[in-house]
Amino acid sequence: MARSYPLKKYRNIGIIAHIDAGKTTVSERVLFYTGISHKIGEVHEGAAIMDWMEQERERGITITSAATTCFWTPIRHTRLAQTDDDRMKLKGEYEHRINIIDTPGHVDFTAEVERSLRVLDGGVTVFDGVAGVEPQSETVWHQADKYAVPRICFINKMDRMGASFEKSFASILERLTPYAVAVQLPIGAEENFTGVIDLLELKAFSFEGDHGEKVVEIEIPADLKDQAQKMHSELVEKIVEHNEALMNKYLGGETVSVDELRATLRVATIANKLIPVFCGSALHNKGVQLMLDGVIDYLPSPLDINESKPIKGTNPATGEEIVRQPDDAQPLTAVAFKIATDPFVGNLTYFRVYSGVIKKGSYILNATKNNQERIGRIVRMHANHREDVDEMYAGDLGAIVGLKNTTTGDTLCNPESPIILESITFPEPVINLRIEPKTKNDQEKLGLALKRLSDEDPTFRVTGNADTGETIIWGMGELHLEILVDRMKREFNVEANVGRPQVSYKETIRKDADGEGKYIRQSGGKGQYGHAKIKVHPLEKGKGFVFVNQIKGGVIPQEFINPIEKGIKEAMEKGIVAGYPMTDCEVTLYDGSYHEVDSSEAAFKIAGSMAFQSAAKAANPVLLEPIMKVQVIAPQDYLGDVTGDISSKRGRIESLDDRGMMKVVDSFVPLSEMFGYATKLRSMTQGRGSFTMEFAHYEEVPKNIEQQIIEGKK
Ligand code: GDP
Repeated sequence: MARSYPLKKYRNIGIIAHIDAGKTTVSERVLFYTGISHKIGEVHEGAAIMDWMEQERERGITITSAATTCFWTPIRHTRLAQTDDDRMKLKGEYEHRINIIDTPGHVDFTAEVERSLRVLDGGVTVFDGVAGVEPQSETVWHQADKYAVPRICFINKMDRMGASFEKSFASILERLTPYAVAVQLPIGAEENFTGVIDLLELKAFSFEGDHGEKVVEIEIPADLKDQAQKMHSELVEKIVEHNEALMNKYLGGETVSVDELRATLRVATIANKLIPVFCGSALHNKGVQLMLDGVIDYLPSPLDINESKPIKGTNPATGEEIVRQPDDAQPLTAVAFKIATDPFVGNLTYFRVYSGVIKKGSYILNATKNNQERIGRIVRMHANHREDVDEMYAGDLGAIVGLKNTTTGDTLCNPESPIILESITFPEPVINLRIEPKTKNDQEKLGLALKRLSDEDPTFRVTGNADTGETIIWGMGELHLEILVDRMKREFNVEANVGRPQVSYKETIRKDADGEGKYIRQSGGKGQYGHAKIKVHPLEKGKGFVFVNQIKGGVIPQEFINPIEKGIKEAMEKGIVAGYPMTDCEVTLYDGSYHEVDSSEAAFKIAGSMAFQSAAKAANPVLLEPIMKVQVIAPQDYLGDVTGDISSKRGRIESLDDRGMMKVVDSFVPLSEMFGYATKLRSMTQGRGSFTMEFAHYEEVPKNIEQQIIEGKK
C-alpha cells in the first residue's frame, strides 16, 4: 500500500459558521458535488450522477461525521474536457483530497470549536448574505484568529430577499478583517441571483442542470462589465502588493498572468494577509463548486501549514523538544481529536496523522496516558459510506474502532519514538448541577451515559458524592448542561431528577498561617497517633496546590508523609468558607511527631486534614467566583438599559464601541448574575440585542455576597 494523493494535494479544512448561516446546507452540497466529481469518468457520467443521487436519497449524506473525506478537481481544469478520457487524465493530474472537519456552530461549545481548529489547516467561513457579520460570527472568527487559521469566506443565501453582497462584504471588512478581498461578484440579487463573475479571470458562470451541477461559462452581463473591470483592477492591486516582482511588472505596465496572480493570492492567504471572499446560494445550488475551487487554490496543504506552524512536541521521558516533519518516513505522530459512538461499529476515536503511518494490527503508544493499545480496525469516513483501510498516512484523518483508554487531545505515537504534542487545553467547567436517578436501573444507565458523554466531551465532568449517592455534572454553560441532560434522557433513556444549574465557586487563602493537627486515641487496645505541623502560603492564580516536605531527621517517618499530603488534599476539597474546593495554596510540612506503636497511615491522614483546616481558618480564607467576559450588541436606543443592567449585576464595563448602527458593550460579569440573561436581554431590547459569553477568570466574592452564598441564598 502506498498513499494515493501526495501531501500537497491535501486540504484539511473546516466549514466555520455560527448557527443558521447555512453550514449544514453548504456541507451537504459540497459532499454532493464532490461525490459526483469522484464518480465522473468511472462510469457513464449521467448514470453515475443519477445512481449517486438515488443512494443519497435512500441513505442520506453523513454530515455529522467528525471528519469526512472527499475529492475535488478544480472546475477550470475539468470544465473544458470533452471526453471521459480527457477528464480522467485531468483528474489524475489535478484531483485533490479534501478532508472536512466538523466544527460546531454554537459558542457555548467553545472547547469543541477549539479542538477542531487545532486539527484543521484552513477554513471556509460561511455568512448569511442578508445579515452579513453577526455577533456570533465574530466569536468564531476570533477563535480562528487565535490559531492563525488561513480562511476564505463564502457569503451564502444570495437568493434571499434583502441579500446584499456589497453590504455583507463591507461588514466583513469593518468588523472582522481589513484583509478581505472580493474575488467574485454576484450576477443579479435575491430571486434574480443567477450566477457569479470570477473577478480574477474576468469570466462569468451560471449553474445549470437539476442540481446546478453543470458550471457553464456565460457572457459577463453588459450592466456589470464596468463594475467587474473596476473590481478586477482593485483585486490585482491588492494581490501584487504581496509580491515585489509582480508589483514591478504591474507598475511597469506588463501584463501579469492569471496564474501568477492566483499563486500570489495563495501565498498571501496562507500567510493570513489576504482573505478571498466568494458568494453563492447553497440552497439553490449556485456557487458551491467555485468556492471549492477556492479551497484548492488558496487554502494550505499540510506541507504549507508546516512552514508557519511546525509539528512540535516533547519527549515524555526527557522533556526535550521534538520537531516532526509531515512525512510518511518519520515516526508516527497523531492526535485523537474526537471520541464518538457509532450505532453500527461502536466506539470511534477520530485522529489526525501529522507524521508517519498508522497501521492496522500494530501497537501504538498513547503518550499522554502512557499506555499501549492495539489498533484493530481503521476506517475512513466518506459522505455515504465507511471504508476500512489498512494504513493511513501523514495528513490523513480517520477513525480507529474500539480504542479503550484514549480521550480527546491525547497524542498517539510509535512506542519506540514517544512524543507528546502540545495538548489541547480546555477551559474549566464553571457550572454544575445535581442528578438523582429515579430507580436502581436508572442508576446503572446513568453510569453508562456519563462515561460515554464524558469520554466524548472533555469539558464535561462528573463527580460523585459517595456519602449521599449524589451525582454532580459540570459544564461550560447553562445550554451545555441542558443539552447533555437531554442526551442522557433521549439517547440513554435515563429517568432522573435534575437540579438547577449552580455556579462552581472555589476558595483560597489570602495570607500565610500556621496549623497543627494532632490525632491521638489511646484508650485500650491499639491506639492511634498522628501529629503534623504545617504552614500555608497563598499562591498566584491558577497555580493549584503545591506540597513541600521539610521534615528532617525522621521526625515523622517517610511512610507517613504521603498520607499527610493525602489528608491535606482531602481537606482542600471542602473549603473552610462554604465547603467549595480550595485552590492556589502552598502547604509546607515542617514538623510533627510519631509514636513507635500507635502511629498509622490513617492517623496521619487525619492529622494532615486537621492541620490544614486549622491553618486555613487562620489564613484569611475567601470565596472565589467565576467571572465571564460578556459582549452585548444592541441598538443605541437600548444602550442605557443594557449598561444599567450590567452594572446592577456587579458587572464591570470595559469598553463601549460603535459598530455600524449598533453599540457594542464589552464587560466582565459574575456568572451567578448571568442566569436567564438571554431571555432578559431579549425583552429589554425587543429582541434586537444579542450577546456572547465566555469564561474569563475567578475573582474574590465581595463580603456581603459571600454571606448570602454561605447562607444558601444565592
Ligand atoms: P446551519 O445552522 O448553519 O447548519 O444552517 P442550515 O444549513 O441548517 O441553514 C439554515 C437555514 O437557512 C435553513 O432553513 C436552510 O434551508 C436555509 N438556507 C441555507 N442556505 C441557504 C441559501 O443559500 N438560501 C436560502 N434562501 N436559504 C438557505
